Amino acid sequence: MQEKVMEQSCRQAPALAENPAPQKTDRLAQSFDSIRKYMFITGSALLVFIALRNSLTWHLQRFWGASGNFWQYRWEQVYDYWEGDAWTLAVIGTVVVTTIPYWLFASMFLFIDYTGKPAFLLKYKTQPEKNAPVDPVRFRNAILTVIFNQTVFSVPFICVMYHIYTWRGVDFGRELPTFQWVIFELVVFNLVEEFGFYYTHRTLHHPALYKHIHKLHHEWTAPISVISLYAHPVEHILSNMLPPMLGPLIMGSHIATSWLWFVIALLSTNVAHCGYHFPLLPSPEAHDFHHLKFTNNFGVLGVLDRLHGTDEQFRASKAYQRHFMLLSLTPVSQQFPDSPKKKSE
Ligand SMILES: [Zn+2]
Ligand SMILES: [Zn+2]
Repeated sequence: MQEKVMEQSCRQAPALAENPAPQKTDRLAQSFDSIRKYMFITGSALLVFIALRNSLTWHLQRFWGASGNFWQYRWEQVYDYWEGDAWTLAVIGTVVVTTIPYWLFASMFLFIDYTGKPAFLLKYKTQPEKNAPVDPVRFRNAILTVIFNQTVFSVPFICVMYHIYTWRGVDFGRELPTFQWVIFELVVFNLVEEFGFYYTHRTLHHPALYKHIHKLHHEWTAPISVISLYAHPVEHILSNMLPPMLGPLIMGSHIATSWLWFVIALLSTNVAHCGYHFPLLPSPEAHDFHHLKFTNNFGVLGVLDRLHGTDEQFRASKAYQRHFMLLSLTPVSQQFPDSPKKKSE
């Protein structure tokens, strides 16, 4: 499977070099192709999830000794702990379930960045010559900015969103939605986020806005995990918080589904910024390339970048050949080494 992806990548590269600027119709066809691939991957993942769901739940039930529906039972415990109060669930609950997983996950990468240990993991760095070791002052400043954003801006924004969610009729109930509905909503959230993030992010690259707002995030041309939320407050609200919160608003989703989605979105942006292309994790190459070159890869899924042709430089680069989920222990930089002349590609 991996060799197949590699073969495809190798085949694609020369064709792109011959046609560096596809016509608009080509782009449209490529976009549909991209959407089709995305739907295929999401659909396959969906089927695997559904197939594994019952046995997974059964094992978890055995392990925890829970009776009845495992997830429903867990949710009822949370629900009763906060006495079913909608405000507490929406505000305190959302802050807790987003902040704790974010820092637990980010700190694993930050530990490697700060200590350079364990050394055998450094071979997976996307830009090996950068942040080795990371500058302690910049490092501390980044962490403090993220904490500032998460407290001073995220919390009031979540309070505002609570009122909008209530107005929309978001579900704060004791009954969880079905598993199939949760999966369907996650697909919708992904598409809504792609739309929201691509256009807000691309707008922030307008010269009139860039130097005042988005430049801060791009101070890091080789990002580390915590840079995912290292941003100007306007960007933090507009690009980091609004696009993921929009999906649950449109769908009027159950608050527990929103929590699951927020955690997935936060962990995924952490990986996109982490600066390491580790086995079995999603590839960070696309967004890493955005930090390196500024002009490509504004979206999350790559669908709108394909449609707008804002991935042409990326698709002709070494990073694109390396852009797949690594399924072996051999780093992508060894499988697709830098060409001797163009080291930065
Ligand atoms: Zn970024
Ligand atoms: Zn940007």
